[in-house]
Amino acid sequence: MDWRTIEKLPVAGGTVPNLVDYEETCRTFSWEGAGALLDGLPGGSGLNIAHEAVDRHVAHGRGDRVALRCLDRAGNSTDLTYRDLQEQTNRFADALRTMGVARGERVFVLAGRIPELYIAVLGTLKAGCVASPLFSAFGPEPIRQRLSLGDARVLVTTEALYVKKVAKLRDSLPGMEQVLVIGQGGDGRRSDTVDFHEALGAGDPSFAIAPTDPEDMALLHFTSGTTGTPKGAIHVHQAVVSHHVTGAYALDLHPEDVFWCTADPGWVTGTSYGIISPLTHGVTCIIDEGEFDAERWYRILAEQQVTVWYTAPTAVRMLMRAGTEPARDADLSALRFVASVGEPLNPEAVVWGQEAWGRPIHDNWWQTETGGIMIANYAAMDIRPGSMGRPMPGVEVAILLQGDDGRAKVADDGTVEVIEKPNVEGELAIRPGWPSMFRGYLHDEARYEACFAGGWYLSGDVARFDEDGWFWFVGRADDVIKSAGHLIGPFEVESTLMEHPAVVEAGVIGKPDPVAGSIVKAFVSLREGFEPTDDLRLELIGFARTRLGPAVAPRELDFDQHLPKTKSGKIMRRLLKARELGLPEGDLSTLERDA
Ligand code: ATP
Ligand code: MG
Repeated sequence: MDWRTIEKLPVAGGTVPNLVDYEETCRTFSWEGAGALLDGLPGGSGLNIAHEAVDRHVAHGRGDRVALRCLDRAGNSTDLTYRDLQEQTNRFADALRTMGVARGERVFVLAGRIPELYIAVLGTLKAGCVASPLFSAFGPEPIRQRLSLGDARVLVTTEALYVKKVAKLRDSLPGMEQVLVIGQGGDGRRSDTVDFHEALGAGDPSFAIAPTDPEDMALLHFTSGTTGTPKGAIHVHQAVVSHHVTGAYALDLHPEDVFWCTADPGWVTGTSYGIISPLTHGVTCIIDEGEFDAERWYRILAEQQVTVWYTAPTAVRMLMRAGTEPARDADLSALRFVASVGEPLNPEAVVWGQEAWGRPIHDNWWQTETGGIMIANYAAMDIRPGSMGRPMPGVEVAILLQGDDGRAKVADDGTVEVIEKPNVEGELAIRPGWPSMFRGYLHDEARYEACFAGGWYLSGDVARFDEDGWFWFVGRADDVIKSAGHLIGPFEVESTLMEHPAVVEAGVIGKPDPVAGSIVKAFVSLREGFEPTDDLRLELIGFARTRLGPAVAPRELDFDQHLPKTKSGKIMRRLLKARELGLPEGDLSTLERDA
């Protein structure tokens, strides 16, 4: 398959999609109208994410619906209805108030995907405090960095994580006054921690939600650290309008859905779409404590009759490694819609999904900074494999003329040039004004300011749009390779290599070269049954040459079964490059353990 051909795949049938007429919806859409889909706080006292996600459904007589179905590692499940969740989150909010935690103060949660994590995050929002979930597999130093940068006042964690990672950090975090421990050990009680469930038990189940303003800070999310030190992006309660609308349009959520978002709430996807968006739609969310395991995942999809599934390219590639057989053995008859985010989704993977599951994968694009989905392939629209799709209604996206560094070229008078012609690469930019836009990087005003020019938010990604308005990802501005006068996006080269039956994953970098500026170098992981021989190396280079031409195909190719990735599964090209060139490896706080 030539990845540039537009291959139209059939749209999954069944439920009528929320977005049927894209053009018409874009024409008539307004964020004010979208805001009216939500209730707002009783008595017109503002907007609060947790009210829209939880209490609203109880008020509308849907309290008995299961909100969260939490599966533990052993596969046991605990259900929390919307009413249960309302009561528990009220109790937690009241516990915070009793402890004297003030509005706007930061409450961090460091725990696996267990019910308490969800209760703590939503309860924090009800108290008017700021929630920041951290990925539980972080080591002590990345945890300390983030707690310190985020001015943590409270931490909620588990006994095991406290003993292993947090206890030794206490002295260096004097502002972190309270630590609530889930499953606190019975004997030898500590004087400097509080038992989470005791505090919850003492909390008032009828707590009245804090009157929060739409512009009040609600969430603090750290970026994935793919390109450098993670940044703490600030989001406000108003973001829930984006969460809700994108859940309807880009994930096609309907109230009767069983929805599984596989991302951890420590990453923005796991909060925006693993907690908030689906709950605002009143769906049942599947929460799995376990890590990736192909067999387990197919079992969950089948047993829970998941209807909408939101995952990431890294998971899709791992499932591709496991082959089509386990997929065909699983009962995926309930599955209606599959979406993916986080990295470019190779066209090969979209087609594979169609073959293995009978469902194509709908790629969508967004960032920690955008807070919600910005560009997507929608349920009612044909998919162009390899494309991120089209902008969300209400979201204005442009491609800006780029300078030598791959970033938008900003003139002396501060203006930028919007590219009107299709198929020209430039920096992807978004017109500010959507509700879930970040309102700052915590303690880094200058960096925030630098994200805007000429009335646009600059994403740092390079992309292009085609004649029909579909957007195509080229690469991060930092990763784009300049070779002998060509600008080469690593994604294109990686996707081509993945079309070869031996290749399951690829990372491509530019390696400095005195003649060409840079040459393209590829690192590839092989599918089981293939040996990393010189013959295969030549074959792969040849394969890429025929498809991409000699100017774009890799000149060098190494085999690497463990490409370095972030903990959220993104290939870290900057690390491949640093290692190749023997340069300092930079911030590794989000590096996956065995890479
Ligand atoms: P950091 O900003 O710390 O380097 P990060 O950019 O990986 O880390 P996130 O906000 O989690 O942090 O990721 C957003 C980025 O992920 C996007 O800017 C883009 O580069 C990439 N991305 C997300 N979705 C897609 C997609 N569908 N296609 C291509 N790239 C994507
Ligand atoms: Mg980023």
